[in-house]
Amino acid sequence: MDPQTTSLVKTSFTSIGASPGGENAFARSFYAVLFAAHPEIRHYFPAAMDMQRDRLMRAVGYVIDRLDTPATVLSLLAQLGCDHRKYDVTEEHYGAVGEALVTTLAGLAGPELWTDETEQAWRNAIALIVTTMTEAADAEPGPPTWVGAVIDHRRVLDDLAIVRLELDQPMPYAPGQYVSVQVPSRPRMWRYLSFATPPTSDRIVEFHVRRVSGGWVSPAITGEAHVGDTWLIASPLGALGARQRPGRSRLMIAEGTGIAPLRAQLIDTPRLGDNPRTHLFFGGTYPHDLYDLDLLWAMSRTGPWLTVVPATENSDNPWWFSGTFQIPDAMHDRLVGQIGGVVAEYADWTDHDIQVVGSPSMVHTTKYRLMAAGVESDDIHHDPLY
Ligand SMILES: Cc1cc2nc3c(=O)[nH]c(=O)nc-3n(C[C@H](O)[C@H](O)[C@H](O)COP(=O)(O)OP(=O)(O)OC[C@H]3O[C@@H](n4cnc5c(N)ncnc54)[C@H](O)[C@@H]3O)c2cc1C
Repeated sequence: MDPQTTSLVKTSFTSIGASPGGENAFARSFYAVLFAAHPEIRHYFPAAMDMQRDRLMRAVGYVIDRLDTPATVLSLLAQLGCDHRKYDVTEEHYGAVGEALVTTLAGLAGPELWTDETEQAWRNAIALIVTTMTEAADAEPGPPTWVGAVIDHRRVLDDLAIVRLELDQPMPYAPGQYVSVQVPSRPRMWRYLSFATPPTSDRIVEFHVRRVSGGWVSPAITGEAHVGDTWLIASPLGALGARQRPGRSRLMIAEGTGIAPLRAQLIDTPRLGDNPRTHLFFGGTYPHDLYDLDLLWAMSRTGPWLTVVPATENSDNPWWFSGTFQIPDAMHDRLVGQIGGVVAEYADWTDHDIQVVGSPSMVHTTKYRLMAAGVESDDIHHDPLY
């Protein structure tokens, strides 16, 4: 897109967002316009639309913020296009969404701001977005969704379950990737989960899921999923492990179930034959949050290329935890403190390729602490946070 188009799109969107109640008004009006013009599209969305509005704002804001860096935004849009195959969207749907976007923006901007040039700039931007998404979706070879039958559901903590599923057909994915899943009790509420194991010939995949208080889907998975349930699983996304450069040491930092995409890569590492020197910091709020430590410890004992360092914010488990938990004998001492600070103070991590996985706040804080300690931001990788 040319600089003038980019600038018109950015400034008009910023002006609408900056007006009182602007962002909320945008998301509310957009869906009202869309559903009024195309009531048949409503059934593609969940019953409760609040989260959906949030997501729309984040996605539109993310794309517009990055219009100046086309490589980043085009690759994100291509992934989004592939992911949207799970909704069975057609060219007509994309057209309807584009028109609703233009109508909403024009209404909120008012005649002074919404000139013919601004409208044309938005139409060009929308055409680029739609073309990028549809071309990527058309080029994707696999099916839009896989069916996974739950074959094992294990509550390893009160609020954390490990779920294994057998897929109906092989799914090629890279360790470190994630997928969008839909569970039967929460129709149309797709959520991202990271593979906790590399692909296997028996088509079995594993996810680690933590209950988010007040969440729609994670409590249903941790508390209500049963063997025999069938989930829908969309195409794999993300490139967390792909950014590791040959010959560079690797630093991995995980909080809670953020360990999933990292352990998938670690399990796969010996198969690759080129084992980068790896430090893994596994953190949590309490010691019992380090639920996967035994496996990581076993891997580090057989793989001298791997050092695992446990870290928790609190020294002891909470009073209400009735289980048993022990750091394996002879393992690295558990460090106490907030994980970003613990890692940044542990060593000099410049010249490492770094992966950070956890809640959005943990990723932001860890990135900030590492950069304050001299690490280049380009060396720090994480998945999209929402
Ligand atoms: C790339 C990616 C990979 C992911 N992989 C995993 C994974 O392997 N395992 C896993 O358990 N989860 C993972 N997640 C998070 C998961 O997709 C859901 O967001 C999470 O399970 C909450 O869904 P929910 O429906 O229960 O909550 P929602 O109904 O979506 O949200 C309810 C409320 O909780 C807030 N909220 C959502 N998530 C969190 C959070 N993590 N911490 C605090 N507040 C939150 C929301 O902002 C909202 O206010 C991943 C997310 C992304 C973006």
